[in-house]
Amino acid sequence: MNILFLGAPGSGKGTQSKNIEKAFSIPQISTGDLLRAETASGSELGDELKKIMSSGKFVSDDLVLELVSKKISSDDCKNGFILDGFPRNLSQATSLDDLLQKLNLSIEYVFLIDVPTDLIIKRCVGRITCNICGKIENEFFSDYKEGYKCEKGGVFTKRADDNEETVTNRLNVYSEQTEPIIDFYKEKGILHRIVGGEDGPERLTDEITSILKSD
Ligand code: AMP
Repeated sequence: MNILFLGAPGSGKGTQSKNIEKAFSIPQISTGDLLRAETASGSELGDELKKIMSSGKFVSDDLVLELVSKKISSDDCKNGFILDGFPRNLSQATSLDDLLQKLNLSIEYVFLIDVPTDLIIKRCVGRITCNICGKIENEFFSDYKEGYKCEKGGVFTKRADDNEETVTNRLNVYSEQTEPIIDFYKEKGILHRIVGGEDGPERLTDEITSILKSD
């Protein structure tokens, strides 16, 4: 089962991918996480990526394609995978099609997580992530704050690109470059629109799970 999550930054696609990863035992491939791991390594490439990512711009298509290609071809993904944050423009979407064709694979489900923009900004600016288990909380909607301990032993930290200015840039880049791929997948007949709101992520996970189980 090969799944793809689309949605603006802060729409909750990371949370949904993680929930589906747990429920169906297929790995999540988050290009944002892979790139952040590189920035944390202190390498020259990592330093370059840090600059691009903290401005809200995209890193090069070739680099993300290489990261995704390595992951998809690995043994971990032999029962399926969940793409989160890739593709993000039409060129990446067609490169992904080419790659999957070579591997004799295809995407069966695309979930578009659709959330109103005012909520998205609050979600990004308040987002904190456990540096060990990856659990996501929000300073506006929970009792957790940056620096608090997670029950798994890690510490909640804020992403460098989750400030209001960068979030606004990322939303502009999303509407210019990523939104056009919604039609690309709609035309393939595999797009499911999931509407998110002020309630928690559980309702959305249930909706996605029932679509995945209905086939
Ligand atoms: P995310 O964690 O998905 O919000 O991604 C954080 C940042 O990583 C983005 O703002 C981009 O700078 C970069 N990034 C992640 N995925 C991609 C991608 N598919 N193409 C280009 N840049 C990406």
